[in-house]
Amino acid sequence: MDLTWSQEEDGFRVEARAWLEENLAIWRGAHGDHIPSGDTAEGFAIHLAWERMLFDARWAVVSWPEEHGGRDASLWEWLIFEEEYYRAGGPPRVTQNGIFLLAPSVFEFGTPQQQSHVLARMARGDDRWCQGWSEPNAGSDLASLTSRARRVDGGWVLDGQKTWTTRGAFCSHLFGLFRTDPESERHRGLSYLLVPLDLDGVTVRGFGRLDGDEGFAEVFFDGAFLADDAIPGGVVLGAVDQGWSVAMATTSSERGLTLRSPGRFLATADRLIDLCHDRSGSSDSAHAGRSTQTRGAADDQSATDLEDRVVRCWMAAEAYRLHTLQTVTATVEGRPAGAETSLTKLWWSELDIELHETALDLLGDAAELDGPWSKGWQFSLSGPIYAGTNEIQRNIAAERVLGLPRK
Ligand SMILES: Cc1cc2nc3c(=O)[nH]c(=O)nc-3n(C[C@H](O)[C@H](O)[C@H](O)COP(=O)(O)OP(=O)(O)OC[C@H]3O[C@@H](n4cnc5c(N)ncnc54)[C@H](O)[C@@H]3O)c2cc1C
Repeated sequence: MDLTWSQEEDGFRVEARAWLEENLAIWRGAHGDHIPSGDTAEGFAIHLAWERMLFDARWAVVSWPEEHGGRDASLWEWLIFEEEYYRAGGPPRVTQNGIFLLAPSVFEFGTPQQQSHVLARMARGDDRWCQGWSEPNAGSDLASLTSRARRVDGGWVLDGQKTWTTRGAFCSHLFGLFRTDPESERHRGLSYLLVPLDLDGVTVRGFGRLDGDEGFAEVFFDGAFLADDAIPGGVVLGAVDQGWSVAMATTSSERGLTLRSPGRFLATADRLIDLCHDRSGSSDSAHAGRSTQTRGAADDQSATDLEDRVVRCWMAAEAYRLHTLQTVTATVEGRPAGAETSLTKLWWSELDIELHETALDLLGDAAELDGPWSKGWQFSLSGPIYAGTNEIQRNIAAERVLGLPRK
């Protein structure tokens, strides 16, 4: 593995950095200092305007082919773009469940007609996609899902309920798993359907998260008719009754390379180091004139412990970066990651919590007043749940990576 960037890659970084700095300032300038979260109706619209700026300048999906709105950039360049994106303070991508989860599966399983209809519209935010997998009684055990699609003349009739659908209330389309063979059980007989949410018989009901944002929705299907041509090229991604293998490809994007790139955590680690400098600066000035004895050995010890944690966080973010470079090398060489993506997911989700908990401990009593760190911490707590819980990832790692016996 060669850890040096080529001249072209350095040039790509310079171009991305310049565009992001200039255009983030324009976007922020147009919407004021306190842009609402993209997981609220008002904030979603503002973030969508940002997605459109990215798309128009061909930065929305850099690694996609030009015909679908990308730059044909390599995976290495994509990593560079992600680093620059988060370094510049780019906002969370409200199109992420489409561009990072669904799209890799559309490239792998979609027909050319599906690809040419779905991909560019998704990247431009014209169609906004949400993930409709979880149900009230099917989360970790996804194969127990009961939503069904019945074959009728010219299409499918959908019945059932999905839940925990991120940003579902603001989306126009859903990619969901439905049982299409009523005689089948578990992983067999499921199909991966592409569903416009404005069909008769579909009800989308948004609801709030613990952090106050309305980021979730329940989606109800009551005899909704999904015509075969509701999506040009067809509404089934992959083959009928073979949706499980498509879904597993999507989860590998969700847990592995695309959803959470190292750039996000490297930028948070840098912000943590800045915070540590600020806090040690302010505590030095607060203690100016007081003797070391008055300050107390316990205070000094806890400051040292905190600094050690900051360093460990930075090292863990760097380790994740190096691990990802290794993953990209394997992918480029035609050895895509399999069950190892579960280890990746464990690493980034636990790192995110540690980064934010360390920040809150540095802030002390001021933590409750600090919006970004406190909000980021609340969201980090959901990392071990979404994209497959960490208990499940540990099971997969034990059985399929380490070869330990199933219980
Ligand atoms: C922020 C966030 C966003 C989400 N977005 C979406 C979305 O857009 N679309 C979507 O479809 N879903 C989404 N989800 C749902 C998510 O996929 C599920 O919450 C997750 O799969 C767990 O399912 P569950 O909530 O039903 O919990 P359960 O499966 O009921 O699990 C409950 C607990 O039991 C543990 N457990 C279950 N089975 C085992 C086992 N075999 N071994 C050990 N422990 C076990 C779990 O680890 C967990 O701790 C989101 C969740 C969150 C938190």
